[in-house]
Amino acid sequence: MSRQLLTGLALARAGSRAPLELKTNPEWWNTALAAGALGVAVAGDRIDADGDAQLNWLPVTESDRNRAVLLSESDRGIRVAVLADQAGDWPSLRVVGTELADSEVADATAAVALAHWHARHPRCPRCGGVTEMHEAGWARICLQDESVHYPRTDPAVIVLVRDADDRALLGRRADWPANWFSTLAGFVEAGESAEQAVVREIAEEAGVQILPESLEYRGSQPWPFPSSLMLGYHASVAGSAPTTTPDLDEIAEARWLTRAELAAGAADGTVRVPPPVSIARHLIEDWFGDRLSSDWSRP
Ligand SMILES: [Zn+2]
Repeated sequence: MSRQLLTGLALARAGSRAPLELKTNPEWWNTALAAGALGVAVAGDRIDADGDAQLNWLPVTESDRNRAVLLSESDRGIRVAVLADQAGDWPSLRVVGTELADSEVADATAAVALAHWHARHPRCPRCGGVTEMHEAGWARICLQDESVHYPRTDPAVIVLVRDADDRALLGRRADWPANWFSTLAGFVEAGESAEQAVVREIAEEAGVQILPESLEYRGSQPWPFPSSLMLGYHASVAGSAPTTTPDLDEIAEARWLTRAELAAGAADGTVRVPPPVSIARHLIEDWFGDRLSSDWSRP
């Protein structure tokens, strides 16, 4: 039986995206920048938004043009990101991601993803030459060998593991406070499928074996902090609350929780769950069968 995939993931909501034929049309792009495009400033995870989670769109100035990235072209006009060296007093996308309007979240998420990528890729991976923006900011080109490079996205799996009695396995990262718990996650390695990564990560981090036939894909969302794509799964192990052996390096503690135990832990403060912007929160709610109270969230 297949279920509907997760909906309402904060950073994967609807929104228009710039089409390829505009990204690759420098005449159109130069004209757009000179003629009324609106830009939002971004630096790292932070984007220029006000207290009501409205992005602050300003006319693109001449000095903005060589650090502008095309976001979207719609009946709202042409929208770009302006890459800033330093963030102003702006919120992180992690904080405003759930509050932005559907029409703005795709712009904001692409802006943060591209800001991170451009900041981290000033040089050519082939020859070490200096690169500059290309294709309306959706690529960089090497000034020495003219090779073109595109933004990288690193796939990661994130998994709600269940036991035979429908408990959920939640882990606490070694660098987290004692009451923060989440689903287990890890990057897909070179030469590995997403499903192989699920089985390997859960064995490495928690010391339990996933039943490979139990894997159920639940949806994905971008996580541009700096460049991940989170692929969400549910998976099961055999038996009732099998002993976990956390790796103690990445994961300090892994606990099997019934729904009642999760609720009790949240009520007495010994368990805090991830914020609503994360796919982890949605995977847990998917198992729990209901939305989790906002009081249960960690920052
Ligand atoms: Zn090069």
